[in-house]
Amino acid sequence: MAVVSLRKVEKTYPNGFKAVHGVDLEVRDGEFMVFVGPSGCAKSTLLRMVAGLESISGGELRIGDRAVNDLPPKQRGIAMVFQNYALYPHMTVYDNLGFGLRLAKTPKAELDQRVRHAAKLLEMEHLLERYPKQLSGGQAQRVAVGRAIVKKPEVFLFDEPLSNLDAKLRAAMRVRLTELHRALRDAGQPATTIYVTHDQVEAMTMGERICVLKAGVIQQVDTPTALYERPANAFVGGFIGSPEMNLVGAELFGHRLRLGHLGEQLLPLPAARADAMALRDGAVQFGLRPEHIGVAPSGRSGELAVPALLRFTEHMGAEIYVHAEVGGLPFSARVPAESGQALTTLARGSAITLQFQMDHAHLFAADEAGASLRR
Ligand code: ADP
Ligand code: MG
Repeated sequence: MAVVSLRKVEKTYPNGFKAVHGVDLEVRDGEFMVFVGPSGCAKSTLLRMVAGLESISGGELRIGDRAVNDLPPKQRGIAMVFQNYALYPHMTVYDNLGFGLRLAKTPKAELDQRVRHAAKLLEMEHLLERYPKQLSGGQAQRVAVGRAIVKKPEVFLFDEPLSNLDAKLRAAMRVRLTELHRALRDAGQPATTIYVTHDQVEAMTMGERICVLKAGVIQQVDTPTALYERPANAFVGGFIGSPEMNLVGAELFGHRLRLGHLGEQLLPLPAARADAMALRDGAVQFGLRPEHIGVAPSGRSGELAVPALLRFTEHMGAEIYVHAEVGGLPFSARVPAESGQALTTLARGSAITLQFQMDHAHLFAADEAGASLRR
């Protein structure tokens, strides 16, 4: 059993800076949990507190059935993989993998069995005799992960382990790490995992649940689907999804929105969407994801035609991102290449029509916290 539970956890650094504010979180046994948020939001601080590399200023941290606030890293049953995988250059992969076990005086036969098992899980049996300088970046990262596996930890901690890899390798390693987690679970050794990243694509593709952080405060903890469909506030709405959710100030009258200087055209919310929200007249933040905006004439029925001015287009291959202005406010649409093609030859400033799927509209409070108006 290795539930990781944080109760009212706080961190104040010796210089007086408070990095973590009352974090309450339970990472389930065997769960793959991702901590995501912009640089400086305290992802590493939290992970290092779980690892025992950073002291805890307040609250309680439990791993399994033990309070571990004051336990040294070695006694916590964790293994950590960093962005800088720092392999021993003068040792083979085999010896790099077995180093920790040898220090712990593990019998040779067991060491050999655990090293080979890790190498097999990571498909690197053919690399065991190589030295680090003979490895590609992705292979070196696999060795770093292998070093964690041979420890048979109850909890795996990853701090941005893929940041040093190029985009293609990163995508491949994402899949490999996710498969590894499944393989360990299938083999009856489910490993509770906390994976830190600033990259929302990594978070969305790898996490069973995701904890979104901002300035040392949890914003939302949920599955990728729930975060995407029901962001708790404007920050989460803007952070999850690519390209970003369009988020603009608007004014609400009943079930209708006034946007920028669109004049008398008000955008009606469909009844089902409006009923799901606690609406009150006045200033709000209106959010609509780029994939929920089309371009005329290819709109579906039920979409709202909105006049816009074209700014520029980006051809992404299968899709085109259309950047435009609606009533002076910036809006981006993400449309299939065939429906956006005609726009790519238009001059900047051309009048176009966007199609808003208002049944996907998000509304957030106008204040800084920007809480979702969903009931
Ligand atoms: P992240 O990993 O999300 O980028 P960190 O956990 O590294 O963020 O840092 C969180 C905040 O704590 C940042 O504002 C950072 O400047 C601050 N911080 C980190 N380490 C220290 C330290 N040793 N002393 C003071 N402040 C620190
Ligand atoms: Mg960090």
